[in-house]
Amino acid sequence: MPLSINTPLLQSLPLSHATGTQVWMKMEALQPSGSFKIRGVGHACEQHHARGAKRFLSSSGGNAGLAVAYAGRRLGVPVVVVVPETTSERARILLGLEGAEVVVHGESWFEANELARSLETPADAFVHPFDDPLLWEGHASMIDEVVAEGVRPDAVVLSVGGGGLLAGVDLGLRRNGLGSVPIYAVETQGMASFNASIQAGDLTEIPVVSGVATSLGARQVCQRAFDVSKERPVVPVQVTDAEAVSACLAYLNDHRTLVEPACGASLALLYENKLSLRAHSNVLVIVCGGCTATIESLSGFRGC
Ligand SMILES: *Cc1c(COP(=O)(O)O)cnc(C)c1O
Repeated sequence: MPLSINTPLLQSLPLSHATGTQVWMKMEALQPSGSFKIRGVGHACEQHHARGAKRFLSSSGGNAGLAVAYAGRRLGVPVVVVVPETTSERARILLGLEGAEVVVHGESWFEANELARSLETPADAFVHPFDDPLLWEGHASMIDEVVAEGVRPDAVVLSVGGGGLLAGVDLGLRRNGLGSVPIYAVETQGMASFNASIQAGDLTEIPVVSGVATSLGARQVCQRAFDVSKERPVVPVQVTDAEAVSACLAYLNDHRTLVEPACGASLALLYENKLSLRAHSNVLVIVCGGCTATIESLSGFRGC
């Protein structure tokens, strides 16, 4: 039994109306850890557990860390998550609820990650948030589920942080004979490291990440995400923070599900009709979820 669940595939009338085509939603926001991350992280942790790992380490104060904490609790493996001082109280509480040991260290993710890596012994498994073929293998299962329900998307919309979701969805599409279906890869302007690499024609690091979509905050995407853009049509799209936040609020009203701005970025492409999707007849949006946002925080960002 995988640690992730088989999520609903729902048709969205509001999003279909906004875009003038049929939009399907893969409801990853309903995963037990609050985001799609548990698919890949759960798969990786099961493999590490089977190989005898005695402890899982993570340096993510976001949805990846939460997925590791959830996987550890389910598998009975202790989890240590090292997070920087900037990590929100809410994230620390959620990690603690899952029973993970939370170590607060350093001013930024860089220092927290250094400490996490230094704790690693041969009995531990360090779980990366996006750059690991085991993660992509787990993420790919969401596409298997869509196809098993009889839906063959002719376009996919998803958000890009470090590019693990993109790499996994690409894998899932390819193994279901959908290797040439275009993927719309959405980022907020302050987190546009994938866009930067595409513009430069090479893997590129952006100097700073900024804005509300914190789960997209990777300064450089993984090599695999960049390579995917050479193997199939990938359309990079940027939205503003304000568009991502208002998409979250509209989505909450329309679909009764609260998601992070990282997910709102993908939804904004559809709500704002940023580019026409009318040439496609079955658009699949990955509702990647995220549990670091609250109604209060979204309302507070509204003026951004
Ligand atoms: C991690 C995450 C992303 C980005 O995924 P990557 O694999 O890093 O590209 C998007 N949305 C949410 C809610 C996430 O947790």
